[in-house]
Amino acid sequence: MNVLHCCSACATYTLKKACPSCGKKTRSAHPAKYSKEDPFRSYRRNALYRA
Ligand SMILES: [Zn+2]
Repeated sequence: MNVLHCCSACATYTLKKACPSCGKKTRSAHPAKYSKEDPFRSYRRNALYRA
């Protein structure tokens, strides 16, 4: 699972946990409120009902 990360030091976006430009640790580019869990759960629930 690829999660987009953003370097807080130089604002470089990367899929890695370390910035390719400055080597510092990156953080998730998604805001904390962003969540795929709820639609994913309902999708799985529907999949179970259909199975
Ligand atoms: Zn950086």
